[in-house]
Amino acid sequence: MALTGIQILKMLPKKNCGECGIPTCLAFAMKVAAGQVEIGECPYVSDEVKEQIGEASAPPIRALKLGSGDDAMSIGGETCLYRHEKRFENPTGIGVLVSTEMSDADIDGRIERFNKLRYERVGVLMKADCIAVKDAKNDAGSFKALTEKVLAGAADAKLILMSESAANLAEAAAACGERKALLYAATDANADDMSKVAKDTDCPLTVKGSNLDNTVALTEKLIAAGHKDLAIDTGARTIRAAFEDNVVARKSAVKDKYKPLGFSTVNFPCEMTDDPLLEAMIASVMIAKYAGIVILSDLQGDILFPLLLERLNIFTDPQRPMVVQEDVYNINGPDENSPVLITCNFSLTYFIVSGEIEGSKVPSWLLIKDTEGLSVLTAWAAGKFGADMIATFMKKSGIEDKVKHRELIIPGYLASMKGELEEELPGWTITIGPREAGHLPAFLKEWKPAA
Ligand code: SF4
Repeated sequence: MALTGIQILKMLPKKNCGECGIPTCLAFAMKVAAGQVEIGECPYVSDEVKEQIGEASAPPIRALKLGSGDDAMSIGGETCLYRHEKRFENPTGIGVLVSTEMSDADIDGRIERFNKLRYERVGVLMKADCIAVKDAKNDAGSFKALTEKVLAGAADAKLILMSESAANLAEAAAACGERKALLYAATDANADDMSKVAKDTDCPLTVKGSNLDNTVALTEKLIAAGHKDLAIDTGARTIRAAFEDNVVARKSAVKDKYKPLGFSTVNFPCEMTDDPLLEAMIASVMIAKYAGIVILSDLQGDILFPLLLERLNIFTDPQRPMVVQEDVYNINGPDENSPVLITCNFSLTYFIVSGEIEGSKVPSWLLIKDTEGLSVLTAWAAGKFGADMIATFMKKSGIEDKVKHRELIIPGYLASMKGELEEELPGWTITIGPREAGHLPAFLKEWKPAA
């Protein structure tokens, strides 16, 4: 059962030294209870207490790390059933399958598309994350060679190594070195051998059951053997069965604290249909309903992009506005005679405004003021986009060195601020821009610096 902040506080040394980065032990305990910081951040708690608190405050779906270092990817760590209850923590990993039965051209194409299909949206880089390498011929040599090819060809791919042979898996996992792969999979037939490989290589292990009950029996066995870092594949290969299993697993773990199902699920839309569009539809359902990882048969932009976008929407924290960094952004290669515009740092506003300026082809300077992610009018009403703040930002932004003219274009919704801003920025002319970003291209094409 989860511990309360007060229960955690009783186990802390209560030095109130702030070495954990939080001023008091009480505040630290509250954050640990809320799952916002790890108990290990306090250097003074004993290993025994760490384990006790760590277990009790662990999220019901255990977080799992793939890869290593800065490039590692986390899945799981989930604490709720619905995003509006809190937020979803770690986005579903999207992967592509390559197998030792595929031709070199098919494998190369998949690796090339893995590297190439990357998109930026609201300041976030969206891309596939994993490559599942399948030992389809049960041959250690070709499996290891394919693993090495993927390691070399896709530098930031997280690997899922799939083999029925524990010995083959051990060789391929050793080739991955520090890029810890997810091993797939422990079954009734090989659970003991796979357990040994996972322990020897220190890699997380997927359990593959023939159904949900069998999956539970296997995870119980592996938990008893000392495994913590597990993922589960319930063996479901229809959309209905996979959907039901994902929901049952998440609900049992979150609501009933049922440990044997408290792991991320790995789903294989690539094994559920031969129709690429149906496969994409299945993947989209799995992303919406709790998949830790989905594996696709191929990566194509028209299928990957909507899945990435769906994932971005689902895994965005609804309580925290998306923001872009406060800065001066140059769009279309501006010079000293180019217009200067200002707006807030709510990412949606930034991307709409910058998109319209880009589309206008008019070289421009776009100043983004930190408004804590609030939109223009909300920020103004909340006192975060006032004339004095804009003036201070303008002075420190360095825009005065970038342009010869002294004219600032403000959002149309801030028209009432014009006089105040002119007082705060002596020597600058304040021009009221359009209210809607869609009118910016026409406005900019007509724009000439004030005489
Ligand atoms: Fe308390 Fe430990 Fe943080 Fe110091 S480092 S304030 S003792 S929780």
